[in-house]
Amino acid sequence: MAIEKLVVYNTLTRKKEVFEPIHAPFVGMYVCGPTVYGEGHLGHARSAITFDIVFRYLQHLKYQVRYVRNITDVGHLEHDADDGEDKIAKKAKLDKVEPMEIVQRYTEYYHDALRKLNVLPPSIEPTASGHIPEQIRMVEEILSSGYAYENEGSVYFNVEKFTGDKHKYGHLSGRILEDLVSGTRNLDGQQSKKSSLDFALWKLASPEHIMKWDSPWGKGFPGWHLECSAMSTKYLGETFDIHGGGMDLMFPHHECEIAQSVAANKKEPAKYWLHNNMITINGQKMGKSLGNFITLNELFAGKHSLLEQAYSPMTVRFFILQAQYRSTLDFSNDGLKAAYKAYRKIMNGLKMLNSLEYTEVVAEQDAALNTEIEKIISDCYKGMSDDFNTAIAIASLFNLIKKINVFYLKQKSTSVLSKETFESMKANYTALVYDVLGLVDEVAIDPEGLIKGLLELYKEAKENKQYDKVDQIRMYFKQQGLAIKDMKHGIDWAYEE
Ligand SMILES: [Zn+2]
Repeated sequence: MAIEKLVVYNTLTRKKEVFEPIHAPFVGMYVCGPTVYGEGHLGHARSAITFDIVFRYLQHLKYQVRYVRNITDVGHLEHDADDGEDKIAKKAKLDKVEPMEIVQRYTEYYHDALRKLNVLPPSIEPTASGHIPEQIRMVEEILSSGYAYENEGSVYFNVEKFTGDKHKYGHLSGRILEDLVSGTRNLDGQQSKKSSLDFALWKLASPEHIMKWDSPWGKGFPGWHLECSAMSTKYLGETFDIHGGGMDLMFPHHECEIAQSVAANKKEPAKYWLHNNMITINGQKMGKSLGNFITLNELFAGKHSLLEQAYSPMTVRFFILQAQYRSTLDFSNDGLKAAYKAYRKIMNGLKMLNSLEYTEVVAEQDAALNTEIEKIISDCYKGMSDDFNTAIAIASLFNLIKKINVFYLKQKSTSVLSKETFESMKANYTALVYDVLGLVDEVAIDPEGLIKGLLELYKEAKENKQYDKVDQIRMYFKQQGLAIKDMKHGIDWAYEE
């Protein structure tokens, strides 16, 4: 079956483009990871799952992908601007621990939540603090290109000079420079900056600042935007294929990344820019101050005033996949409950399919059904190849379940299909569910409950003197490494010794 050409929506050009890697079959992808100063929330899950799908589908199409997703552990200041405290240092002070303890703790939380959501780990996960020399080198390169200036131990990117030389700034996010000038805050307390448009490449550390390093400009720390430019260049080269991240990072973060790369490397960093949309909660933006900030652990445990129940990781994953990544997605209990049912339906489809066998008897082929099934499978891939539209792929899988059901209920014999169609249905459904959509079987069976039920049956069989049944149940227990204990005061079970 021929797979459609992959088309991706490129934020840079604002249109869908055929995906053509710079050095096929190799693909380089960089995605902005989290600043690890708090527990992962729904927004983190959407970004991680979006680019997990990109990573998985590219690999499914036999590309060799190097996926780099960073951990920001220094340099991300409050309000995403050039002033305020470092987010991690602030949390460390609050909790009275070392900043690196905060980093360790929340990196673990993040990894743990993503593992539960079956998000594949990236190929490389670099940290900002682990790449200080690379960042200093990049600042030096930008300084020598003339697009940065040093003042009182800090180094700033000179946006006006950059745009004055006909370089683009604002084209990714579609911002106009004049609007930016009037939109930025005044320079209170940041007198070392020439213009409010300029952004920090390196900041002088105040004496009480904890995370600081030696540099040619004195003790300081890197600006937030710089780490992604330095680390993507290091691991993927000066220009790579895909740069991803949440829409909220488009400006200023990604815009600054482009400017830094152009100034230092004389090249734009990425060919395709992909941005996932945000998650709203009951129509509202998510925010700590709004009280609608739901962490992933709260979601999995059902512990938040907005949650009617706990939602399993696969429910959350499926909920996110039911929308194309560029569309808005509104969280609601009803939406998640529906996602749970739909996810179970997809897994039941797989279970039914696995129970089917091809019957090789001479029977009349149902040509129309063969064609229909082939078309549904190709619709799944058409959806995936149209800018990773998981919503379409899932809808097509539901159509396929209707066909699978016909054979499962024995309304028709599988022999009405060609062997090729039958095998294609099995292989593609399985690959789409496990490899591409990254769903896993999530069986919430309580073993204690099952054992209790079996012991009830055992007791009943004994009372009715059904000794065959009694032996049979004993055997089931033995096979599981368990033993039934008949005692005067009742029946219990134990691990077989
Ligand atoms: Zn970044």
